[in-house]
Amino acid sequence: MISVSSGRLAPYREAAGRGVLLLPRCVDCGTWQWPPRAACRHCGGAPDWREASGGGRLSTWSVVTRAPRPECQADVPYVVAFVELDEGVRLFTRIVGTGAGALRTGLRVRCRFAPSPEPAVSIPVFVVAEG
Ligand SMILES: [Zn+2]
Repeated sequence: MISVSSGRLAPYREAAGRGVLLLPRCVDCGTWQWPPRAACRHCGGAPDWREASGGGRLSTWSVVTRAPRPECQADVPYVVAFVELDEGVRLFTRIVGTGAGALRTGLRVRCRFAPSPEPAVSIPVFVVAEG
């Protein structure tokens, strides 16, 4: 078991580097948590890190046309979004492979992993899972 409280996002980032979407889940009641916290948001129990399904639905999105940092300049325009995971938590992420014009609320999406602007780091992104 990896303690959620030691280095809040370290297990998430380490797993993403291996192509695994790891999220905190309460060992007592099974509720998934995001963002990571020391105690379960439902029952106050202890969260542990578990592999999530990687499936979800598009909730809201926006197109970024001005790079927030110089290292993002080559990426613009790109789509940022909130994805409602099948586990019941919302993740702020990017949608890749589909332009904003083809997106709609509730669209099925699946997790993939893409290189981050930080060297040797990979981050979860989402692709549209239906035509
Ligand atoms: Zn709980």
